[in-house]
Amino acid sequence: MPPHFAYRCTLVGAGPGDPELLTLKAVKAIASATLLLVDDLVNDAVLAHASPNARIVHVGKRGGCQSTPQAFIDKLMITAVHAGEQVVRLKGGDPFIFGRGGEEVEHLRAAGIDVEVVNGITSGLAGLSSLGAPLTHREHAHGVVFVTGHAKPGDSGTDWPQLAATARQSKLTLVIYMGVSSLEHICPGLLSGLPAQTPVAVVQNASLPTQREVLTTLGELGSTMAREGLQSPSIIVVGDVVQGARAWTAQPQTAQKAA
Ligand code: SAH
Repeated sequence: MPPHFAYRCTLVGAGPGDPELLTLKAVKAIASATLLLVDDLVNDAVLAHASPNARIVHVGKRGGCQSTPQAFIDKLMITAVHAGEQVVRLKGGDPFIFGRGGEEVEHLRAAGIDVEVVNGITSGLAGLSSLGAPLTHREHAHGVVFVTGHAKPGDSGTDWPQLAATARQSKLTLVIYMGVSSLEHICPGLLSGLPAQTPVAVVQNASLPTQREVLTTLGELGSTMAREGLQSPSIIVVGDVVQGARAWTAQPQTAQKAA
């Protein structure tokens, strides 16, 4: 028998940025909310679907402010749900790909609250799709690894040399979230298991009018990023599938050679 929950709340994926990438289910949930708790990286344009009477609380760190502590967000959600509010927690991309969706569900369930999850399009998928390339391909990639470049404090993080070796052996595309500020140790780690000419795409602000991207190789990733100045939020995609990007052939010499 599933446990009985007297209260409910909805965790909604707002997608990577373009409001047209919201699901119909997400639009419905947003419209019926009385309280929306909105994360960093959620495009405000999606809030156009909210009721004029809904309360909207931004809990991200936009504008350089400190982000709201997770414990406070959890408490706010639990109190509001218990008070009978229709609570929607809006998260960028998909709520269950990084961004602590899993942790929030655990806290809510522990407080006797059931959580409905509405999937969103994760930025790791939208990034390469926006360049016209797939994440899997029968010839080039038998699978995809979504991996964070940013370990929890105290956690040793990803073993990049090991991951690179596995990616090479098993033909896997690597999709790195939150990797921009850790490139100085991600790059050497990946280069110990993957060839320097492995194609790489970096996509900043995927699906938004401010989107920027670079196509390069693993060996040149550090210098390309330093030159182009791409910043967070960016997705880094490593693997032969990047050759499918429509702009790959128009790239500088190094990228063309790798292709
Ligand atoms: N749940 C989110 C990921 C949250 S972690 C999702 O499914 O997309 C935050 C990281 O996601 C950022 O550091 C960045 O790596 C990535 N990200 C989120 N939105 C992005 C966007 N529009 N373009 C590129 N990367 C993005």
